[in-house]
Amino acid sequence: MESAKLPFKRVLLKVTGEAFCDKGAQGIGFGSVRHLASEIKGIANLGIEIAVVVGGGNIFRGSEASEKGMDRVSADNMGMMATMINGLALQNALEEMDCDTRMLTAIDIHQLAEPYVRRRAIRHLEKDRVIILAGGTGNPYFTTDTTASLRAMELGAQVILKATKVDGIYDADPMKVSTARKYKELKFIDVLRDNLKVMDAAAISLCMENDVPIIVFDMTVTGNIKRVLLGEKIGTIVRGK
Ligand code: UDP
Repeated sequence: MESAKLPFKRVLLKVTGEAFCDKGAQGIGFGSVRHLASEIKGIANLGIEIAVVVGGGNIFRGSEASEKGMDRVSADNMGMMATMINGLALQNALEEMDCDTRMLTAIDIHQLAEPYVRRRAIRHLEKDRVIILAGGTGNPYFTTDTTASLRAMELGAQVILKATKVDGIYDADPMKVSTARKYKELKFIDVLRDNLKVMDAAAISLCMENDVPIIVFDMTVTGNIKRVLLGEKIGTIVRGK
């Protein structure tokens, strides 16, 4: 364990639901989940304490269902259940790799996971268990991005790692605009002012007020998360008032 030399001791990783499915698909892609798990295990082996907030968009998104006429609260409850399915898939993949984990949920589901209790979550981190935080905040009308900010503050994470399929934040969609420029660094206020698609505004505001940086990077590239945590400048960092 060489944690003393690392820039971060405790981190919060936000994994969007998209990372759980294979390219162009929906639901759970087992290759993708194994990739995620092996990347997470790699950083846990460095001695970094890691809390993972899982999204659910590969299965269900409340806002999309409500646009089609579904009651928003019921739809969001389904979305939160979707994050639990992803959490269980990730836990299974990590345990197959002999990585010690605990899943904690914001909505009680005792037979499957522990309820989220801050002190208990911190205790697991101190014991070098990877914690998987599922069920979002437990409240409708929120997202797992906001959950990530909230839990990062509560658990004292030094940074939020936002794992995506793009290698940072751009001034335009790099898939559509060939001249799109990648930012190496941004201030929170720039993200809010220019409405850059990083995390939703509530999540960004919480990070800004509490001075917790966000690093956006491409987690589909093997070894990237380790590079970020060893201090390599990849992706985009958002920080500063
Ligand atoms: N959700 C919610 N409250 C929360 C977090 C999530 O109601 O605190 C629901 C919401 O319907 C959301 C879904 O869970 O669409 C999945 O989460 P999210 O869209 O953030 O997942 P991601 O985009 O990261 O895959």
